[in-house]
Amino acid sequence: MTTGLVFDEVFLRHRAPYEHPEHPGRLAAIWNRLKEIGLLDRCRRIPAREATREELLAIHTPDHVDRVFATARRDFVQLDPDTYTSRESAEVARKAAGGVVDLALGVVSGTLANGFALVRPPGHHAEADRAMGFCLFNNVAIAAQAARLAGLRRVLIVDWDVHHGNGTQASFEEDPDVLYFSTHQFPFYPGTGAATEVGSGAGRGTTVNVPWPAGMGDAEYLAAFDRVLLPIAREFRPELSLVSCGFDAAAGDLLGGMLLSPDGYAAMTERVASLAGGRVVLALEGGYNLEAVAAAAAACTRTLLGESVAGPEAGPPNAVAERVIRKTLDAQRPYWPGL
Ligand SMILES: [Zn+2]
Repeated sequence: MTTGLVFDEVFLRHRAPYEHPEHPGRLAAIWNRLKEIGLLDRCRRIPAREATREELLAIHTPDHVDRVFATARRDFVQLDPDTYTSRESAEVARKAAGGVVDLALGVVSGTLANGFALVRPPGHHAEADRAMGFCLFNNVAIAAQAARLAGLRRVLIVDWDVHHGNGTQASFEEDPDVLYFSTHQFPFYPGTGAATEVGSGAGRGTTVNVPWPAGMGDAEYLAAFDRVLLPIAREFRPELSLVSCGFDAAAGDLLGGMLLSPDGYAAMTERVASLAGGRVVLALEGGYNLEAVAAAAAACTRTLLGESVAGPEAGPPNAVAERVIRKTLDAQRPYWPGL
């Protein structure tokens, strides 16, 4: 059993008509780093396959799927103030979603221990009926649906991108069988993700938001994982964990204001891997400082390969984080007796 890695040159072919932070060089930086330090050879490369129309329709409306497909072979189409397509973006976005689906299904069937999808465009801002925030299709949400179609009952989605995954939250807010946990800068783009957003209807309690002001680092993130995510997830008992793996919460990011280190990312990966029998798939979302992105991706890959993490030098969380964590726990306590 091994770690599956989705990477394909095709993911370099989604481009903006102008200078854009979400550019192909992000993926090249990760790929080159993993190659340089010998991690690529230790993973199994999984080919990127286009998600089928049916797989996309498990999350998106037919109109949205058609709108993205219709951009094929057109030079540039603007779908949202900061979301665009180039000639091959429709194919690239289908392969990003299909790649995450195949990793998830490989982990569900037991042919892979875990996996990391090095894909773009990212997905977590894409809503059922629209592209948004650099995202065309919601890769992780689509993979969660595919895993359930393959027989799984409960799926955990952990979103540590510095932005809130509004699209993923909206897809599952009424669904008690998908637990969505997000840490993010707040208030910040896209504006959603308050601690009081806990889901609705039958899904109350399976949306969990930890909204941080800027300046949080390893100690604060790990405290949120240990005191909020792990107790709730142990009660929820996921059969698979999918991670919206944004590296834009890393120190030095061009958009985010957080201070996570590569060891912090590794320690979060290790905590998620302690759930669902270790069945975890990371899918790249944001992350805009090339050095930070490459270092964090290497640390996460090492953890997936089973190298143990010493743990970052993290003391107790700061007082601001304590207050945020308390707010989230207060909002969730009615739904999780173990808290
Ligand atoms: Zn982001």
